[in-house]
Amino acid sequence: MGPSAQKAPEMKRCAYCGKSMAAHLMQCPYCREAVPQVQLTRRRGSNGREETRRGLLFMLLAAIVYYFAGGYGAPMRIPIEIVPAVTNYLLPLLFLGGLGLTLYGFFLRIKS
Ligand SMILES: [Zn+2]
Repeated sequence: MGPSAQKAPEMKRCAYCGKSMAAHLMQCPYCREAVPQVQLTRRRGSNGREETRRGLLFMLLAAIVYYFAGGYGAPMRIPIEIVPAVTNYLLPLLFLGGLGLTLYGFFLRIKS
């Protein structure tokens, strides 16, 4: 047993004692510390909550921009001219994107 085993792709280094160990282990076999799982998947922790929140944010943003761009916030006018294409295409797209993201987040939460 030597310290040469860490070049294998399935090996990782323990964050506490520095010894290399099999990547799938949840606990270091040397120091018995629980190893924090570093995952690249998006499921970790969020369970769709992040997607839902981001989707709601997009929808809110689209609604606010649409409100001001449509001239509904009459006394408070934004100083820049908004191209009609933005309100006609971009904002509904943003809104629908946010809606889809929200539904996706709900779906993830139901599934988990
Ligand atoms: Zn360790």
